[in-house]
Amino acid sequence: MKPLTAEVAVIGAGTAGCFAANLLDEAGIECLLIEKSRGIGGRCSRRRIARQDSNHFGIDLGAPEFSLRKASHPLLKEKIESWVKRGYLTTWTKRASHFDGHKRDIKIRTSHCGSPSMSSWHNKVAGHINILTQSKVKTIERSSNQWSLYDEQHQLLAITKQVIITSPPEQAIDLLNTVDDFSYSERLPIESLPQYVCAIGFQSPLNLQADAYESGHGVLFRAVRENSKPDRNCPIPLQEIWVLHSTHEWAHAQHHADSQVAAIKLTQSFCQHFDVKMAPHTLTSHYWRMARHKPVVQAHQTFIWDKTLKLGCCGDWLASGGTIGALNSALALHQTIMGE
Ligand SMILES: Cc1cc2nc3c(=O)[nH]c(=O)nc-3n(C[C@H](O)[C@H](O)[C@H](O)COP(=O)(O)OP(=O)(O)OC[C@H]3O[C@@H](n4cnc5c(N)ncnc54)[C@H](O)[C@@H]3O)c2cc1C
Repeated sequence: MKPLTAEVAVIGAGTAGCFAANLLDEAGIECLLIEKSRGIGGRCSRRRIARQDSNHFGIDLGAPEFSLRKASHPLLKEKIESWVKRGYLTTWTKRASHFDGHKRDIKIRTSHCGSPSMSSWHNKVAGHINILTQSKVKTIERSSNQWSLYDEQHQLLAITKQVIITSPPEQAIDLLNTVDDFSYSERLPIESLPQYVCAIGFQSPLNLQADAYESGHGVLFRAVRENSKPDRNCPIPLQEIWVLHSTHEWAHAQHHADSQVAAIKLTQSFCQHFDVKMAPHTLTSHYWRMARHKPVVQAHQTFIWDKTLKLGCCGDWLASGGTIGALNSALALHQTIMGE
């Protein structure tokens, strides 16, 4: 395969990568996204599930939503408003409660989510940008003011002038360590927090007051009525779909057990907690080895950029975590590159 060329290679097509590529593209800079998975979205990805009528429907497997509370940068606010206006993002108004709350302890909360799935937002933001999927960048090498990006078989994937890495921390540091003359001075390690997720479907509606439950349970971190989110529907014969997220502590104690085994335990915990007698269908399950990150030492900068090497890094772990952290980090890096 002939290597691709571009001005900037953005490694990873999650939230930070798609936003970074979108900003560069808008500034007239040719970029190439390189993603190891089949689709884009990263930890906001969805899983396609076959329906009885041989169509498919999608379920959010990672972040189900995000809150705008930490979106303080005026440019980011402006961007988000434009995505809402264009229908890339929708407001989700939900009834929220706690696992250990009383029946009447229900609050109306709003947040944002991609429509009709979290990753469709990424597709709309960066779907028009040249992308190489199912390609994991293993090493990056610099010579004659150019970067060469290689996969695991040491096949040359791309040649570019600049590289932006948006992988989660362990993978990002592995890649940065392949560069001889680069030193990243921030103190690592950053602790990764694992999480199991599963989606279960019921043929009759459950008598539960809230659309989302959080905190107050040892096994379940969160339970979300997926079909209460905008533009999601329930495929016949299902009437309700719930997505269950484990706590990080419980996931850690499972020692990387198979996600299907974990899904049985999550489902039992959910049914026991809410006294659900109806047997659900398990639709899908997933193990996120690095769902979130606990920064051990607070990074001073919300991105990494070496202007001599033209090598940078952005992502949630550099900017207080979460979807907004990933967006803030990508925006800050972009502004630095454009300011040079
Ligand atoms: C179960 C779960 C629930 C969550 N809930 C919330 C929530 O409610 N609200 C919220 O704000 N956030 C939530 N998050 C966190 C949120 O999803 C992340 O903070 C955000 O998506 C991170 O975006 P990112 O671009 O920094 O990283 P990622 O989304 O991880 O993107 C990195 C991308 O790089 C790719 N990649 C890595 N290495 C390579 C390589 N060598 N070559 C090519 N590609 C590579 C990966 O495949 C991935 O697509 C949740 C996450 C999970 C897993």
